[in-house]
Amino acid sequence: MVSEISQYCDLCIIGAGITGVAALNAATKYLKAGSTVMIIDKNKGWGGHWNWQYDYVRLHQPYVHYTIPSRPWKLENKPNDYLANKREILAYLQDIVQSCTSEKNINLIEMFEFVATVEDNSMTEIVGDHPQEGAVSLFCKSTTDEHLFVNIIAKKSNKCHRIKYTTFRGLQT
Ligand SMILES: Cc1cc2nc3c(=O)[nH]c(=O)nc-3n(C[C@H](O)[C@H](O)[C@H](O)COP(=O)(O)OP(=O)(O)OC[C@H]3O[C@@H](n4cnc5c(N)ncnc54)[C@H](O)[C@@H]3O)c2cc1C
Repeated sequence: MVSEISQYCDLCIIGAGITGVAALNAATKYLKAGSTVMIIDKNKGWGGHWNWQYDYVRLHQPYVHYTIPSRPWKLENKPNDYLANKREILAYLQDIVQSCTSEKNINLIEMFEFVATVEDNSMTEIVGDHPQEGAVSLFCKSTTDEHLFVNIIAKKSNKCHRIKYTTFRGLQT
């Protein structure tokens, strides 16, 4: 039997790598306190491809050039040309996520078991009596249960799963 549920949020970010973390960081500036942000990633945990690298794998370039604006690394006694390793990169990204959620009391829903694949529609008509320009409906399927689908209705969304930065849909700056 196929199950389908709906989930509402203020912002939906697809992809939990550094691009997704950077999107969360940028959005935190504009989101209202107590907003709900949903993260979709077909794999588990923050950090994107770094999660499945070997432990000895490092950045190709100095960590200072792999920095999200306004979020300095907490690497002590490291020269500026230091190549951070997998553990340090994952810790850096996780730390930013925690800072973002606590600064704005963000309700973070990490739906890592879902993968956005099917639809990404403008949803002006879907919200019926309350049309919201820029809102989207993301139809996702579970990677663990082939019978489970979720329809995410987000006021804003940002796709961060193809190593490409996009502008926020619906975000007022
Ligand atoms: C060994 C190595 C060293 C590197 N060193 C550097 C460096 O020094 N400097 C530099 O700038 N870059 C470097 N890179 C490049 C690096 O890939 C990028 O800088 C950056 O980490 C990419 O982040 P991302 O978030 O865009 O992508 P990813 O880290 O790939 O994250 C994308 C996420 O999206 C998820 N996803 C994909 N499709 C879907 C879907 N349909 N639904 C849901 N989720 C999905 C994936 O599961 C993943 O978690 C290096 C890469 C490697 C492999």
